[in-house]
Amino acid sequence: MSVGVPEAGVDSAILGTFRDVEQPGEMVGDYVAVDGPEYCTLELLPVQRQDAGMRPLTADDIRSSFVNATPEQLDRLPLPGLHETIWHEREFLGWRDPQAARLGYIVHWAGDRPVGVVVRAASGGLTRGIAAMCSFCRSSQPATQVRMFSAPRAGEAGLNGNTIGTYICEDLACPMLIRITPSQPLQPDLVETRSQRLLERVHGFTADILKTA
Ligand SMILES: [Zn+2]
Repeated sequence: MSVGVPEAGVDSAILGTFRDVEQPGEMVGDYVAVDGPEYCTLELLPVQRQDAGMRPLTADDIRSSFVNATPEQLDRLPLPGLHETIWHEREFLGWRDPQAARLGYIVHWAGDRPVGVVVRAASGGLTRGIAAMCSFCRSSQPATQVRMFSAPRAGEAGLNGNTIGTYICEDLACPMLIRITPSQPLQPDLVETRSQRLLERVHGFTADILKTA
């Protein structure tokens, strides 16, 4: 790996989070010192945090992550701007398709591999003027900003038309929404709680898509 700059340790087992100095903003990963922190012989091992939010994804990671996409959807998959992405402030990467207005894409890390799902927005929106809640971030918003999305299940089940559906923020930008409040500065622990719950819900959704039995 290229030379990294360790940040302050965030956990007794984790020596630091390394960022790539050649590509500022690009996180390389978390590392532990195997000989104990006093000696810091700097033999570094990557740590897999099962509960972690996002780590950087390459275009290839994203293309190979989809569990319920058709070959045609993968061929024309539009990618979001990965260089501008602030990975540590996201639980998943979610984006809509500028060419196919009803399609959207969600990718998150599940352990050491990324899992991506294609979702499709229902054609009719919710009634204007009422409030609606996103099932991922639980933000209450004007109904026009929340949509019913359906996702084909992975494998044979999906090919047979078996889908699951849920209400999600129309722009699939829940990670941004949980970090914003209208009137007061956000407390870090509030964001942490929201982040953990958002992760659990999005993982639950994709686990459901992967259940093919
Ligand atoms: Zn949301």
